[in-house]
Order: sequence, then C-alpha cells, then structure tokens
Amino acid sequence: MRVYIVHYSEIALKGKNRGYFEKKLVNNIRSKIGKDEKPKIRREYGRIVIESDSPEIGEVLKKTPGVRYFAVAVRIDPRMDEITRSAVKLAPDCGTFRVMTKRSFKGFPLNSMEVNRTVGESILKSKENLKVDLENPEKTIYIEISSKNAYVYSERVEGIGGLPVGVSGRVVCLLSGGIDSPVSAFMAMKRGAEAILVHFFNSTLHSPGVRKKIHDIARKLSEYHRLKLYMVPFKDIQLEIIRCIPSEYRMVVYRRSMMRMASMIADAEGAIGIFTGDNLGQVASQTLANMRVIYRASDHPVFAPLIGFDKEEIVDMAKKIGTYEISILPYDDCCSLMVSRHPVTKASLEEVERMEGACDLREKEAVENAEVFEYG
Ligand code: ATP
Ligand code: MG
Repeated sequence: MRVYIVHYSEIALKGKNRGYFEKKLVNNIRSKIGKDEKPKIRREYGRIVIESDSPEIGEVLKKTPGVRYFAVAVRIDPRMDEITRSAVKLAPDCGTFRVMTKRSFKGFPLNSMEVNRTVGESILKSKENLKVDLENPEKTIYIEISSKNAYVYSERVEGIGGLPVGVSGRVVCLLSGGIDSPVSAFMAMKRGAEAILVHFFNSTLHSPGVRKKIHDIARKLSEYHRLKLYMVPFKDIQLEIIRCIPSEYRMVVYRRSMMRMASMIADAEGAIGIFTGDNLGQVASQTLANMRVIYRASDHPVFAPLIGFDKEEIVDMAKKIGTYEISILPYDDCCSLMVSRHPVTKASLEEVERMEGACDLREKEAVENAEVFEYG
C-alpha cells in the first residue's frame, strides 16, 4: 500500500506539548484536504501516516506549516525479507546509492546500521552497475521501521517547516498591497500563529483593482492555513488627519491610527500580537525613532519579522510563497499618495500626541464598519 509519511519540525522537541502539537498538525492537514478525499490520517511513532497517494495531498503538505518533509512510501510488514524486496525495487539500475534506516521501534531484531548493511548488500547483489556512496549518493533509499509497519521510499519532498498553525495563538497582521506585509503574515503563520489580516482602504483613492488585489493576497495566503480578512474603511480618518495634522507628520499619524484600530481588532479576536511588514530604514516611516512612536499607539506587542532583511531577500521570499506576482500589480496605496515630500524622520511622541489631541479620529466607528471575510 502506498501512503504519505509526514515528518514534522521542532514538534518532537516540545516535550509534554508534543501530543497537542501533533494533533494540531493532523487536524490542520485534515481540514485542508478536499471534501472528496477522506483518507485515514494517523500518528505513528513520531510521524504522521496518511493512507492515500493522491497528488492533491502532496500539494497540501507542501503548504502546511509544521511539515518538515514528506514522502510517498510503500507500507509493508516490518520484516527483513519484505523490507529488502521493496528496497531492491526502488534501487536505480546504475550510479551511486545509500540506504538510511530510522528505527523508531527498538524491539526490531536488527539495529539501523545492520539494516542499512543487509539491505545495501542485497541491492548490490541484484544490480551490476551500482556503487555505495554514503556521503553524496545519487539516490538514497529510506527505510522507517515502527512496531506494526515498515516504510520504504526514495524521494523526500521538503515542506516549509515551522510549527502547526494554532499552537502559537492568534495575531493581527497589517496587510498593505505591497511586497513586504504578505511575507510578514506568512512568517506569523509559519511559526504557528493564526492570522487575522487587516487592510485599511480609502474607497475614493483606491481603484477597484485594489480591493481585488487585497483579496487575491488573502486567498493566496490562505493556501497555508485558513484566515480572516478585515477591510477597514480609512477614508474619513485620512481626511481628518489631512485636516488637522501638518503634512510632515501625517504618515506617522496614519500608522498610529492603524495601530490603534489593529489593537481593537486584536482584542475582539483574542489576538495577542500585531505583525507588520516594516523593514528598518526602507522608507521614512521606518526609522527607529518613528517606529517607536508608531508602535506606542498599540497596546499589543508589535512584531516586524522582516526588520533585518534586504529588499532582495524579501522579494525572494515573496516569490517563493507566491504573493510576489500579486503584490507587484500597480495600485495606489492609501498612504503613499498622501505622503509629504519631507516626512519627519524623528517624530517626537509628545508632539504627535498633542497634534492628535486636536483631531476627531473616529477609529471605533471605522472598525465597527469593517467588512470581514473568511478564506480557506
Ligand atoms: P509593504 O510592502 O508591506 O507595503 P512597505 O515597505 O511599503 O511595506 P509601508 O508602506 O511603510 O512599507 O508600510 C509599513 C507596514 O505598515 C506594511 O508592511 C504593513 O504592515 C502596514 N501597512 C501599510 N499600509 C497599510 C494599509 N493600507 N493597511 C494595512 N496595513 C498597512
Ligand atoms: Mg506599502
């Protein structure tokens, strides 16, 4: 029988939480598999076994946080004759190979090294032009032995690693239409956080394309795990900021206003942190001094996982996760259009708070009027 063998990342290290982490991963995989597919999914000695070899499941596993690697394997009885027969079938006709055994059931009569040697010898006997290369072989035959089953395979597929979504709680991710913030939201999910995406939009500035763009990014990110998207109307707040804040300070005040609203949404959703796509020094609002003033507007911790990356590195990640092509479509960011030619780079908190005191920013109202969507 052909099955998927799934190995996970650091879950194994988590001691007492291990069972909880594994169950989350199993549930996450199950919830992503289409309705017609209802394969059996079980935990077995530090791995997950899925009774199916449908390619659709492979596509799901490639995009499930917590999966380190997986393989389609043949499942057989844990007996040396069966193991050897399957391994010989998988061996190439020529070139170099090695056998790597993982024995999670210590009651098996041979240890891993002995299995490697015995199976390797049988493979060599069965084919003429094969050589063993333990360091850098062209093909590796993997054998895994648990108490009731053995598994044999030769192709491992890398997953994205990380932790199963849900084990780290929930976070709000500020999503603009740019390249950075989708990568930041992906990183939150990759480390096990459920993402509540929040976009602030200006209905007059935005071409209809922008709404679609944000939805497309949300849909793409939901391939990793289901998520929610809040679309918060920002036009009235922006107009008020333009009315009462000098142009050099507007960007900082826009961002502070976003932080306050993100905090309200976080409270309503039971989210603990706020993720942004900020990157040190990339634009004027991202000086340390300005970020200090901006982040102070939130009463939740603010995380910027891209803070130390170069733009090229972020672009590479965006391409890998599939958001880049959507992000580069032209759009009018609600803030970039109204940015001053000389924005402050060292905003002072006291000054900004004094200016905001003269504004009537109806943030609670905006959050109440948000549209909420679910993806995945
Ligand atoms: P990005 O590529 O993500 O747009 P950026 O380098 O263009 O980032 P800014 O435009 O200064 O940087 O935005 C910094 C961060 O603030 C974004 O990464 C995002 O997390 C948040 N942000 C900016 N604009 C919006 C918006 N309209 N709605 C929600 N969040 C936003
Ligand atoms: Mg931007």
